[in-house]
Amino acid sequence: MSPADVVVALDVGGTGMKCALVRPDGTAVHTERHPTDAGRGPDAVIETILDVADGLAGKARADGLDPVALGIAVPGVVDEPAGVAVWSANVGFRDVPLRDLAAARLGLPTALGHDVRVGGLAEARLGAGRGTGHVLFVAVGTGIAAAHVVDGSAATGAHGAAGEIGHILVRPGGPRCGCGRDGCLEAVASASAIARRYSEALDAATTGTVTGGVVTGGTEKTGAAVSAAEVADRAAAGEAVAARVWAEAVEALADGLATGQALFDVQTVVVGGGLAQAGPRLFDPLRAALRERMTFHRQPRLVAAALGDGAGCLGAALLALDAR
Ligand SMILES: [Zn+2]
Repeated sequence: MSPADVVVALDVGGTGMKCALVRPDGTAVHTERHPTDAGRGPDAVIETILDVADGLAGKARADGLDPVALGIAVPGVVDEPAGVAVWSANVGFRDVPLRDLAAARLGLPTALGHDVRVGGLAEARLGAGRGTGHVLFVAVGTGIAAAHVVDGSAATGAHGAAGEIGHILVRPGGPRCGCGRDGCLEAVASASAIARRYSEALDAATTGTVTGGVVTGGTEKTGAAVSAAEVADRAAAGEAVAARVWAEAVEALADGLATGQALFDVQTVVVGGGLAQAGPRLFDPLRAALRERMTFHRQPRLVAAALGDGAGCLGAALLALDAR
């Protein structure tokens, strides 16, 4: 590899695209962000992806660098060997052969990956899982998804849908999940589920739950538009409803991670996504709850992700480097 080599990397999300030119050692020499504007429909989004990737390759050449490959990460179900974005709710993709489209447009070797799987790849190789061979990366944000990375490679599953840990059934008959089933992990413990459940619990309290002829709850507290981080803050401050919702989420997450450990027996569990920003308010009780659930399995090291929201872009770059 020449010192001028870079890869073009894009992490396409429902609202925005994080883009970078990345050296083979994982350092980004240039970053850009663009809106996805998914409401325009999948064809327009594909055009934007190709234009942005082409623009980045041009920028690299203008700066005296040599773009040698392209990596693109997208959400949903991704058939990585075929290079096809099979299905994505928030970008609107259905069976889009994105790898071949991009390779034809840019004339570069191209890899297509799943956003959480490549994020896990980056955390396992360059981030919080560095130095350990068996890593489970769990992203907890609007949903919950995982990547099982062994020796720097993430398993995709037979249909591109491995790692959907958010749909482990943890509370049969519990809250309705976006997938249509009741009681999935992400219906209890995703950042958006925590915010929603807190809001619902407060509303139930403030709209007058009658207990023994006395209307309980007050009007001074509202659950409208309270984030999961705020629920964690309120729980730490001793607010009972917040403490209950937070504890239920932590217990459910521990159930999900215990299932993950039974399946994968990893050394390190890296938790990323928005919820990881709760820090010790998440990790202290989660570590304890996970320990309670271990019988003969070894307790994995439980750590916060280190690469922030750049992990997906960096992982797309790693996938591109692997594919060359
Ligand atoms: Zn589900």
